[in-house]
Amino acid sequence: MNLVLLGPPGAGKGTQAKVLSQKLNIPHIATGDMLRQAVGKGTSLGKKAKGYMLKGELVPDELVIAIVRETLAKAVVEKGFILDGFPRTLKQAEMLDEALENIGKKPDVVLYFKTSIEKSVARLGGRRVCRKCGANFHVKNIPPKKDSICDYCKGELYQRKDDGEETVKRRWSVYAEETAPVISYYEKKGTLREVSGDLDVGELNKILIALFQREKLI
Ligand code: ADP
Ligand code: ZN
Repeated sequence: MNLVLLGPPGAGKGTQAKVLSQKLNIPHIATGDMLRQAVGKGTSLGKKAKGYMLKGELVPDELVIAIVRETLAKAVVEKGFILDGFPRTLKQAEMLDEALENIGKKPDVVLYFKTSIEKSVARLGGRRVCRKCGANFHVKNIPPKKDSICDYCKGELYQRKDDGEETVKRRWSVYAEETAPVISYYEKKGTLREVSGDLDVGELNKILIALFQREKLI
């Protein structure tokens, strides 16, 4: 199954993508994670992307498109994929269609995770991420068993620099300007399905599994 997850920052795309990836055994491709890795390693892509990410701006299309092209060319997508955080602009959406067409694929379903800015600010402000395995926690909603330590790998938890209130607001306005048109793009194609990002992880997961079954995707 080829899935695309769309929605504003803090709508829960990444969390749901991780659960679905494990359950359905298809790879989770998150451009945000790939870019943060590049920044962490200090690669030339990372050096170019860092400033944009800290400000909550989009990394230029050509840089992101290049890493997605590379990933889609690998055999890992043979069984399907969950794209999380891509496409974020109309240009990226067009590039994705073209790249998938070349390998005889298309997005089966585009899930639009809807949430409010208030909920997003609260979620992202309390989010803590594991440096080692990338697991997400929340100081109130999903607290780690031990302060600042990952439950799964004992890695150190940190707060993303772009999760502060001001940057989250900037990410929302970038989203409204650049990414909202991508929603209409998929709506016109008939592949868009809206779901509530405000639900609990387990609750939303059940709804998604039922949706995939209804559409005979699993
Ligand atoms: P969120 O979805 O919560 O905003 P991500 O981890 O997906 O967070 O993305 C973090 C940052 O990485 C974005 O604010 C942006 O700077 C960059 N980024 C990720 N994906 C893309 C993309 N497809 N195009 C441009 N920039 C991207
Ligand atoms: Zn961890």
